[in-house]
Amino acid sequence: LVVGVPTEIKDNENRVAMQPDGVAELAHHGHRVVVQAGAGAGSRFDDEVYAAAGAEILPDADAVFAAADLIVKVKEPVEAEYHRFREGQQLFTYLHLAADPQLTRFLMDRRIDAIAYETVQTADGKLPLLTPMSEVAGRLAVQAAAHHLESPAGGAGLLLGGVPGTPAAKVTIIGGGVAGTEAAKIALGMRAIVRVFDTNPARLAYLSDIFEGRADLVVPNRARLADYVADSDVVIGAVLVPGTKAPKLLTREMVASMRPGSVVVDIAIDQGGCFETSRPTTHSHPTFVEEGVVHYCVANIPGAVARTSTLALTSATLPYLVTVAGRGVAEAARTSPPLAAGLSTLAGRLTSEPVAAAHDLPY
Ligand code: NAD
Repeated sequence: LVVGVPTEIKDNENRVAMQPDGVAELAHHGHRVVVQAGAGAGSRFDDEVYAAAGAEILPDADAVFAAADLIVKVKEPVEAEYHRFREGQQLFTYLHLAADPQLTRFLMDRRIDAIAYETVQTADGKLPLLTPMSEVAGRLAVQAAAHHLESPAGGAGLLLGGVPGTPAAKVTIIGGGVAGTEAAKIALGMRAIVRVFDTNPARLAYLSDIFEGRADLVVPNRARLADYVADSDVVIGAVLVPGTKAPKLLTREMVASMRPGSVVVDIAIDQGGCFETSRPTTHSHPTFVEEGVVHYCVANIPGAVARTSTLALTSATLPYLVTVAGRGVAEAARTSPPLAAGLSTLAGRLTSEPVAAAHDLPY
């Protein structure tokens, strides 16, 4: 197969879907890899390094899409990219289709065979291609919250951990999975007071072991969540119900009950968001204020630390990419259960039940 790596064009998206050692690996397996000139620049990988690894550098996105059988990306295609896809082309990238009816329709109509990174799932229920980005997003969420609590950023003027003699900020994390756990680690490291809500008792038991009493671990219900939120300086939303839209857990009233200048970070915004007041933001304009509370709802948080994120993402995707490139999307999904779980569209049909349910489409 010819594997194509275009430059990401979403706002401030500086990641790239393949690093040079990925090119070398695919070349070793007999594939031709075409990389758009400058595709790695945002992650500090020069064209020359890709070329030395065996890639062919093409001048623009049109050339990459025209040459490639399989397009490898980071973010879901945006409208400006739709026209470049040709019927029957294959796609391996993050898709988040449950939150995007337009893209779902497009992939079906253009008969693109697509596997979504975020729903590739191993036998133990893990999501190996979401994990590294969730780790980055969880850690960065606390960094962002700490920054936006500062007075010049419009926040309440609080230092997350305080200093001796002052109260530390209270951070409530909803969803103690991969992102939520990393957020809790960093918030604790910055000496905030941390509480984690999760519906899964086994997860809370695990967190109890790793945090050894340093974080409050809470089974959520509506009233309890409302109490904790009203008393929080920071709320981080990090829930996931795989393949579906995020449940709206924070109502407008709960947000309004927070102290002015508090910060909410909706990591789950890429799945539609878990706060009623959330709407997606970008790295250029990361926040807005609603009910007196600063909202940070960047849909591609890991893009802010592009090199770390590219290194983490491509290390995780490469073994799967080798399989997809070797067999093609259809055959790879037929023979590899983790990739089958990620298959989203095939020959004009939707193959993900949760996505079909989200948009009321046939499955
Ligand atoms: P995960 O599956 O590891 O964790 C989700 C956790 O949420 C689980 O422990 C689950 O038990 C819990 N949960 C589910 N419903 C809940 C509820 N009603 N109340 C409390 N807890 C609940 O998922 P993850 O990898 O940590 O990802 C979390 C979210 O972050 C996802 O929506 C993912 O798409 C998103 N994400 C966003 C970005 C970004 O840039 N914005 C980057 C990476 C991941």
